Amino acid sequence: MTTVVEATELVLGTARTYGEEYVIMEDSVGRVLAEAIVATRDMPPFNRVAMDGIAIDYAAYAAGQRHFEIEKRIAAGDPIGTLSDRHKAVEIMTGAALPTGANTVIPYEALTIEGNIAHIVADRVVQGQNVHTQGEDLQQGATVLDAGHLLRPADLALLATEGKTRVRVRRPPSFAILSTGDELVPIDQEPLPHQIRRSNVYAVQALLRQYHVQSTLLHLADDPEVMHNQLSALMGKVDAWICIGGVSKGKKDFLPQVLEALGVRKYFHRVAQRPGKPFWFGATDEIVVFALPGNPVSSIVGTVRYVLPWVRSCLGLSWDYSMPVQLAEPFRFDPPLVRFVESELQHDSSGVCRATPRPGHGSGDFTRLAFTKGFVELPAEKTLFQPGEVYPFWPFPTFVV
Ligand code: AMP
Ligand code: MG
Repeated sequence: MTTVVEATELVLGTARTYGEEYVIMEDSVGRVLAEAIVATRDMPPFNRVAMDGIAIDYAAYAAGQRHFEIEKRIAAGDPIGTLSDRHKAVEIMTGAALPTGANTVIPYEALTIEGNIAHIVADRVVQGQNVHTQGEDLQQGATVLDAGHLLRPADLALLATEGKTRVRVRRPPSFAILSTGDELVPIDQEPLPHQIRRSNVYAVQALLRQYHVQSTLLHLADDPEVMHNQLSALMGKVDAWICIGGVSKGKKDFLPQVLEALGVRKYFHRVAQRPGKPFWFGATDEIVVFALPGNPVSSIVGTVRYVLPWVRSCLGLSWDYSMPVQLAEPFRFDPPLVRFVESELQHDSSGVCRATPRPGHGSGDFTRLAFTKGFVELPAEKTLFQPGEVYPFWPFPTFVV
């Protein structure tokens, strides 16, 4: 049987780029930059006053002067002014450009002002204080954000400051998410006693949306001929498929044979893990096919552990977004399989992050997922896992801990 490590390598080996596209800046969080953003101006672009108060020439203060006549007022948004007399001061506001001739800002908190005269009451004034010097953060021409950067909310302020109304980003692969199973009905339909609604495809689709993956949902019949025709019509329409269900040993699990008949080359079938052992993976020159077992927890584990790393790799991100956490409680698992256990996650007061396993009633029980934050990955070689031992944790949404 293929190991989790081998399966990971085979999956990632098929990762490739899928081109680039432009998006409007406001919609770019979670996208990966395809262009480097270069500073078109110094940052800050002028000597920016960082406190409300007065601007003076430090030399006058150093020579012992403590009373300064206010020559004029300059607010944020006023053009760059001049301190014409170096023994006087300019009353100045945060965000204004420091006037030529001045080099130091004394905040109101360090002043008393009577009429037009400011008295410095601070014990200490440092030359250049409260001035955010032009180019101090970044010089014109320097890289603000590298290509390959995953955009987060604060990055939008940088894009905005550079006037990037739209940005070039990497295009993620497009997906079809294909449910199988004659017991499944659409979610707007009342199931008969022996039927259930298709559910896990929505969780899988939501997981993919983290990376702005476009996907369409389709349903396949548990009939090899119909399935063959449905899948054959889909060839060339999207970059990747996630098939869900129909890959185990049941009499109606036709997917592997249908996929192979369609010319999808099998890389592996069955991985030494629980849940998700019947995982089938293959590819043609055009498409990559993840065929995950249908139990909801299995299909979600497969997406979190293999599909998302593959998408990340296609986008040029590091595939492994797991984080090391300590186990909070002992856990026992005898079979020689990697065990993915849905777990809660808590930071304790010392900053240690601990995972508490919350295994449900097997891989068909997805009610527990609502109370967990991801899966802890326990190695196949051990059977008894002790509190304090450190294992990788695969979070559901990568940005929430
Ligand atoms: P299978 O892998 O096709 O043998 O399915 C395993 C179990 O998962 C069965 O109980 C199915 O009814 C269930 N299942 C399969 N696909 C879905 C789905 N899209 N949503 C919810 N349950 C599913
Ligand atoms: Mg089935």
